[in-house]
Amino acid sequence: MVNPEELDHEYFMSEAIKEAKIAGERGDLPVGAVIVHEGKIISRGNNSTKTNQNRTLHAEMSAINNHAAFWQQHARECVIYTSLEPCIMCLSTIVMTNIRHIVYAVEDKYMNMKPFIKSNDYIDQRVHSYTGGILAEESFEVIQTYHEEMAGLVSTGKR
Ligand SMILES: [Zn+2]
Repeated sequence: MVNPEELDHEYFMSEAIKEAKIAGERGDLPVGAVIVHEGKIISRGNNSTKTNQNRTLHAEMSAINNHAAFWQQHARECVIYTSLEPCIMCLSTIVMTNIRHIVYAVEDKYMNMKPFIKSNDYIDQRVHSYTGGILAEESFEVIQTYHEEMAGLVSTGKR
């Protein structure tokens, strides 16, 4: 198994940010995600909550549902890259899918999920790595370009 810590986080995050731009261009929230297994992108997703009029269609949910059967066998070796820290729905879905490694770009100041993860043993034990700040400035710029209001709710961790 490829050690998730040794993956090229910036490369895979740049792919998640490409998905965020696709969503932003389409008029959806500018968030994208990719899921990586053994160094390869297995699935991609981006937010389509507005165009599909479905509030559950966050980037991570789409990336998971686009390739659902794969996770039955391989989830534990996968890493999900998302351009925005997962919300409570996506984090729960990631955990329930058995994906154990999460890498994100900007922090979600609004949801503030870190204390929640620590507060719940079930979730804390299943999130083996939680790495933020990867290409945070790039993700922030995309959010600011397409959705200025949303930019006020996120942090690059440096501001
Ligand atoms: Zn979400």
